[in-house]
Amino acid sequence: MKIGVSACLLGDSVTWKGSHNESLILKELLKDHEIIKVCPEVLAGLSIPRNPSEIISFQPLIIKDNKNNDVSNEFKNGALYALDQLNDIDFVILKANSPSCGNQQVYDGTFSHRLVEGKGVFADLLFKKGIIVFNENQIDEIKKCLEKG
Ligand code: SF4
Repeated sequence: MKIGVSACLLGDSVTWKGSHNESLILKELLKDHEIIKVCPEVLAGLSIPRNPSEIISFQPLIIKDNKNNDVSNEFKNGALYALDQLNDIDFVILKANSPSCGNQQVYDGTFSHRLVEGKGVFADLLFKKGIIVFNENQIDEIKKCLEKG
């Protein structure tokens, strides 16, 4: 199968801190599949490291970093650039809780470590395109998808 995966989950040091979120379980599960690695924030030209950002508002979509810089356009563009790399993809696995990649929850925009229901910008774009998105904690669902082929 052809699977899109957040670059940080595969061990690339691309997070805002300049670190990664490598998942050895995922890497083992996916080792016989074609992997397309994407990081929308890096594709948008944001630096590594960079200030952490959170979604301040969903409607209209406003994303700011913790220094109050508006990075909405960078996040939107990064999502589009990343989508461009996922032609004919079977499904996608993205990092939970990220303002780009979170598929179920994101931080609430107050930079106080509180999660709320909602999708990151990239995950939301994929959802609207009808592409299945899991996060790295949904291992049983990912296994089922892989078994179906
Ligand atoms: Fe990982 Fe996504 Fe953040 Fe890039 S944008 S560091 S892939 S969570």
